[in-house]
Amino acid sequence: MVIWQREIMTFLGLFLAVCVIGFFTKLFVSLFFILTLFTLFRHLYQIHCFEKWLRTGRRNNYPKTTGVWEELYYQVYRIKKNNKRRKKQLSRIVQQFRESTEALPDAAVVLNFKDEIEWVNKAAGNVLGLNPSDKGQRIPNLIRFPKFIQYLKSNQYDDPVIFPSPVNENLILAVRIINYGVGLRLLLAQDVTQLKQMERMRKDFVANVSHELRTPLTVIKGYIETLQDVDEGDSILLTTSLQNMQGQTDRMQHLVDDLLLLAHLETKGKKHEIINIPGLLQKICDENSAALEPGRIQLTLDSNAFLLGDENELRSAFTNLLCNALKYSPEDTIVQINWYQTEKSLSLNVIDCGEGLTQNDIWRVTERFYRVEKKRTKKINGTGLGLAIVKHVLMRHDAQLVIRSELGKGSCFQCTFPIITDVTQ
Ligand code: ADP
Repeated sequence: MVIWQREIMTFLGLFLAVCVIGFFTKLFVSLFFILTLFTLFRHLYQIHCFEKWLRTGRRNNYPKTTGVWEELYYQVYRIKKNNKRRKKQLSRIVQQFRESTEALPDAAVVLNFKDEIEWVNKAAGNVLGLNPSDKGQRIPNLIRFPKFIQYLKSNQYDDPVIFPSPVNENLILAVRIINYGVGLRLLLAQDVTQLKQMERMRKDFVANVSHELRTPLTVIKGYIETLQDVDEGDSILLTTSLQNMQGQTDRMQHLVDDLLLLAHLETKGKKHEIINIPGLLQKICDENSAALEPGRIQLTLDSNAFLLGDENELRSAFTNLLCNALKYSPEDTIVQINWYQTEKSLSLNVIDCGEGLTQNDIWRVTERFYRVEKKRTKKINGTGLGLAIVKHVLMRHDAQLVIRSELGKGSCFQCTFPIITDVTQ
């Protein structure tokens, strides 16, 4: 029988007894009144004991009682016991989490939505100079690098921000922020000094080797030209050998020039000169049209907007795109160059009706030395560095390269620049 039914049955039993005794003693009303008062006081007393038990918080046992009250005590006791177990589990998990984050070599800081510090681990003290006593302080007041403050405000945390450690300027940190929970953020700072040093060594090595190769190459080229001048064509073997040597030294010269340009793009500071883009495009088209493919280039200038940046770098990027379009499309097709402005950006489109690229090639063509499948490109000279240069130049101008292409139909290489100046002609 359910406990409630038992409670009602007991009450009905007592009520029946009152009725029978009341019938014989003619004291029904008084007896009924006494029964009601008894029931009421019993429950009031139980409520008092229950409230006292809840308040004093004794969790290990509950007072002995009967009926529905015993069941109530038992159920609440069970809930309390479960909660206690869960609380223990939770504090164990929190403790483990704390211990593991304390052991982390990377600095970890929890920030709330107001950029205030909620918690820091031990490594945060070593590399960021933040301590548990900084809890509640706003992090931009403690880490004052403009780069970091801009990153924090940007809400764009896909890539880390790199800056020197505030406590030791020889340490380079890569700081990343991860949103979690409601308005909480985890800031992780990793020491990337070694990585950066190796990267610098690699760049310096490539730049030095390329630079050192320049002089012997010029000398070899000079000798080949002298030999070609004195060659009277008596030996076909000698003439073709000299031609091959000249072709290979030219190729090597291009490679060295491209490597040096890439090294320069990776290491040198940015320039901010005003560039007349329509004029520059006109010049590039005229030079290439005259030198290589007369009548193949169609230039459309729908905007007379200028850009801020480095003219030499942009010249080299645009020339690479134009030369590729001419190289990788049939000689009887037109290459279109369009310079135009939209609401938010300035764009240059280089469109050709060439062999096109597959989706996989589109993802990879800006990698260094990547050249599309040898079968198709074997007759066309190139270093595989042109589009890597384009990508770097555009990155340095906060611009993007978007490639759209269809195999057998052609490609469109679009350079999109943000509008940051109203400098117009
Ligand atoms: P490369 O010196 O080989 O031209 P790039 O970096 O400029 O080096 O180009 C990489 C590869 O991308 C090229 O080898 C070529 O296969 C492909 N490519 C570049 N531009 C085009 C284009 N307009 N149409 C088709 N393929 C292209």
